[in-house]
Amino acid sequence: MLELGAHMSIAGGHERAIERAAAFEMVACQIFTKNANQWNAKPIEPALAERFRERWAESAVRSLVAHDSYLINLASPDDALREKSRLAFRDELDRCDLLGVPFLVSHPGAHMGDGVEIGLARVAEGINRTHAERPDGATTILLETTAGQGTALGRSFEELAGIIDRVDEKGRVGVCFDTCHAFAAGYDLRDEGGYAETMAAFESTIGLDRLRVFHLNDSKKGLGSRVDRHAPIGDGELGLDPFAFVLNDPRFAGLPGILETPKGDDGEEDRRNLATLHGLVRAPALVAGA
Ligand SMILES: [Zn+2]
Ligand SMILES: [Zn+2]
Repeated sequence: MLELGAHMSIAGGHERAIERAAAFEMVACQIFTKNANQWNAKPIEPALAERFRERWAESAVRSLVAHDSYLINLASPDDALREKSRLAFRDELDRCDLLGVPFLVSHPGAHMGDGVEIGLARVAEGINRTHAERPDGATTILLETTAGQGTALGRSFEELAGIIDRVDEKGRVGVCFDTCHAFAAGYDLRDEGGYAETMAAFESTIGLDRLRVFHLNDSKKGLGSRVDRHAPIGDGELGLDPFAFVLNDPRFAGLPGILETPKGDDGEEDRRNLATLHGLVRAPALVAGA
């Protein structure tokens, strides 16, 4: 069983995300540490970080994950943009450390025509320099599996391994597995055989010990479409079975499972999607004599 929650808004203050997650009885949640569509953000005041940590400690939320800005592209062919991205990425890690958030999920980037190998090397270089500049940083970078839209890197486990292989401090990186993205990238999770094959491929290329977080999203688009469109759980092309496979896979017990499914202002859709996921969890087998 995963620890379930959703991406929650920090509107009104970072601690509001925790309060909102708690109100929906989530035990996990994902946040942006700043507006994800802007480069700059004012620094997090120590008092705010303190308040955030207090609210978190008081709440039932156990697993917390942050997601970085969509503007960041560590693989950009443009030197200035790549460095701007790297500094923004480093700032995101600093913000996570202040808030005590242990994971920063990051889309690896897009090579913009320069080719996959050059792109992977650029991402790894950006990570290596960032690691070197913050030797005491506690937050682990999680490279997310992507749908492979356009020139986006990370649509195959080999591409993610191609980044990790080039990272010097491998203990500081892991992977976030997005069910929608993996399916759109061509990994068929819809039946037990396909699921087993996909996880075996992950194990042999990246290693399951690097899989630290799941994004649980259904997909509006079909297998191998390479289009990233999230659907409510069970309403998309994936259907319910893949979520049952992940939720009941003992190898992933205790990992955060985060919804990034469409929702309105009141977030009621989260409640429905969480209920759907909970309904897929099989009761643990009774042990004779226990
Ligand atoms: Zn995702
Ligand atoms: Zn997505």
